[in-house]
Amino acid sequence: MTSSHYRSDLSVESLVVASGRPPHEVDGPINVPVVLSSTFHAGGPVAYARTSNPTWEALEEVVGSLEGGMALAFASGMAAISTVMDIIKPGGVVALSAHTYSGAAARMRDLEAAGRVTARLVQIDDPAAIEEACVGADVLWLESPTNPAMEVCDIPAAVAAAKRHGVMVVCDNTFATPLLQQPLSLGADVVVHSATKMLAGHSDVLMGIVVTNDDEIRTKLIRARTLLGGIPGPFEAYLALRGIRTLALRVRQSQASTSILAERLAAHPAVTRVRYPGLPTDPGHEVATRQMKGYGSVLSFETIGDAAAAEKVCDSVRLMTHATSLGGVETLIERRRRWIEERPDIPETLIRLAVGIEDVEDLWADLNGALNTIV
Ligand SMILES: *Cc1c(COP(=O)(O)O)cnc(C)c1O
Repeated sequence: MTSSHYRSDLSVESLVVASGRPPHEVDGPINVPVVLSSTFHAGGPVAYARTSNPTWEALEEVVGSLEGGMALAFASGMAAISTVMDIIKPGGVVALSAHTYSGAAARMRDLEAAGRVTARLVQIDDPAAIEEACVGADVLWLESPTNPAMEVCDIPAAVAAAKRHGVMVVCDNTFATPLLQQPLSLGADVVVHSATKMLAGHSDVLMGIVVTNDDEIRTKLIRARTLLGGIPGPFEAYLALRGIRTLALRVRQSQASTSILAERLAAHPAVTRVRYPGLPTDPGHEVATRQMKGYGSVLSFETIGDAAAAEKVCDSVRLMTHATSLGGVETLIERRRRWIEERPDIPETLIRLAVGIEDVEDLWADLNGALNTIV
């Protein structure tokens, strides 16, 4: 359905706009239609809409072109993640980032409790620990930067360790987006995304993506997606496609604001620590500078006082929204430990700030006012 031009000569800023379009035909639409059909005329490879759909294919083409691989769309980030976990061989050993996304970690624990896999938690900013965890493992499951600890993994070093031990590398690239980091080009085998976040960008849709260059993995994933059935709706795929057209602009604006807010937060008397790889003093700064084109639009900070003080900050903002999630046009703020699934080594006062595209001075005035309620 789409013109399927895989134009590696274009920059990612152009690909987000130009790829995933219908073929150029006189008076043909320039956007791919929302194809609402559960079945297709017989004789082709698709046949039924649990296998594929032209609207998802357009989204897959865009994300695939950005990440440098073949993309598959799913109903949510967790549907994408669970499907990748489903293709791990029975009894497989997974070296799992200790601070991996809480939903992914919870699912891995359930699989372990069911005797399906064995998981080893690994500190992903420690290359020696990664090397050790890869011995006898089948999968290395990375996330960088991590949510919400903001640790940075040296991905090329982790991949090199994994390859020495024949381990498949999966990387959750939700925080960075393919505009800032391309794990496949750094050697990872599989990239997963919660497209709900920056890719779709408007907090109005859930969507997941898996990207790989490996035909064998891709074939297994297509089979698992079709049989598990965690497929996206065509309208949701359209919303994600519409959102992704402005990804480059949104990333540019929100990460410029994030670095300004990070510096000002670090100087505020109500803040004890800021975690953002863009800060030169951050432990992940050097590695992030090597492997990323920017430091992203999420930061975490810790407040003085206790959990109640941090909650008060979140309840006192007026322009920002006190809500979970990230990657939308609107700035979201939350204390992560309000979630029972959040890891106990995340401090009680840690607040995650997911910066949107509002005016940075308005954002700072709002946050500064909220912080001043606890000094
Ligand atoms: C939100 C998130 C997910 C889960 O995605 P959903 O779309 O909510 O299912 C996975 N990984 C990361 C890093 C996330 O932030």
